[in-house]
Amino acid sequence: MVFQPRTIIEPFRIKSVEPIRPTTPEQRATALSKAGYNLFLLHADDVLIDLLTDSGTGAMSTVQWSGMIQGDESYAGSRSFYKLEQTVREITGFKHVIPTHQGRAAERILFGTVCNPGDVVPNNTHFDTTRANIEARSAEARDLVIAEGRQPSYYHPFKGNMDLDALRATIETVGSEHIPLCMLTVTNNSGGGQPVSMANVRAMSELCHTYGIPFFIDACRFAENSWFIKQREAGYADHTPLQIAQELFSYADGCTMSAKKDGMANIGGFLALNDDAWAERCKNLLILTEGFPTYGGLAGYDMEAIAAGLHEALEEDYLRYRIRSIAYLGEKLLAAGIPIVEPTGGHAVYIDAKAMLSHIPPRHYPAQALCVALYLAAGIRAVEIGSVMFGRPLPDGSEEPAAMELVRLTFPRRVYTQSHVDYLAEALEYTAHQAENIRGLRIAWQPPALRHFTARFEIV
Ligand SMILES: *Cc1c(COP(=O)(O)O)cnc(C)c1O
Repeated sequence: MVFQPRTIIEPFRIKSVEPIRPTTPEQRATALSKAGYNLFLLHADDVLIDLLTDSGTGAMSTVQWSGMIQGDESYAGSRSFYKLEQTVREITGFKHVIPTHQGRAAERILFGTVCNPGDVVPNNTHFDTTRANIEARSAEARDLVIAEGRQPSYYHPFKGNMDLDALRATIETVGSEHIPLCMLTVTNNSGGGQPVSMANVRAMSELCHTYGIPFFIDACRFAENSWFIKQREAGYADHTPLQIAQELFSYADGCTMSAKKDGMANIGGFLALNDDAWAERCKNLLILTEGFPTYGGLAGYDMEAIAAGLHEALEEDYLRYRIRSIAYLGEKLLAAGIPIVEPTGGHAVYIDAKAMLSHIPPRHYPAQALCVALYLAAGIRAVEIGSVMFGRPLPDGSEEPAAMELVRLTFPRRVYTQSHVDYLAEALEYTAHQAENIRGLRIAWQPPALRHFTARFEIV
């Protein structure tokens, strides 16, 4: 008999530790009131387990750290750039690789180059910086995810898929001359971290190319998406995540990437594309605002960390552990009767706060209230993805609420262990038992835009 463990262990051991600091409920209550009940305004030292984001918060490997010592800081022609370029070409096959300081810089350079006022850019769901960069060009960012992708408790293996009929209808009505490119976000971050199937990628590529429209991938979580394809799509079980990623990119004309996600780095990103003329124009804009094309706003050591990280993100043991940790928390929450977006996605568990705190109306921000309660109870920092983030003010002074009131528990890469996850589940179970005592919030002060970062609240 062969030993077949049921436990999927963290596929690493710990060489350097960073203490996390427990606080008392009184300390947390004080910190919350000082922060105006906005968890973005807390000092990170007052947080025990930080699930605000998986962006740039991961732990680097010994290989990445040793690569950083070897970083070549030459202004032009850095050896570290060529290493990054070679890695990105191996995985994506794209001809031109343009480093940027993070994902949004790649977006700004791409849309600043190819997008004009009145254009429409379709995507399954635009991430907020992607949308903002398109809107900054006076163009429209249009979300066309399949209908199943908008229903929290509806099971579909590829809830991030593009609605191809809606895409075709958009192209037919808008006209291909007003669509500089179509995008597809893998996994679909703003839609619950849900994956896109290879069949959908292939079909979307064919559709775009039929109309002569370039097809780009927002590749931030390409490795996690590749793992879901391996697990869930017929014909891919025996492919490696690298092979799957290579096929996925082969259908596209380019990608934008935040290396703070599946680049496993603390900072960085890139734009990669095939078209020579577009690449030349992008590089000219890059020089204006980011830096010379062989560093693009990054240090040589950052490019080393990303080159190594892109391969590590595709390792099967790592992906199995990562996706399993998230599913494990999801199973525990479901067993405790806590409503979540199903199935669990690649980088986070999303709690349906509208269903969990049904006594709090959207105008009193149930998802924000849940984040506050979770921090107060257990020192956990989650993030609201609901009406604080996406509510729209109406002329009469009221607000149109967001479609969903979600709390995202986002997992940094390689940072927390199973006992941290068990603690999370316990804290959430406790909070769910207290649900009827949780009170809503109202906004006491807000800035004109992107209010979720700095708004202050009062308890209702
Ligand atoms: C994080 C993210 C971005 C933007 O990347 P930054 O590095 O934060 O600028 C773009 N798209 C998606 C899907 C993301 O998750």
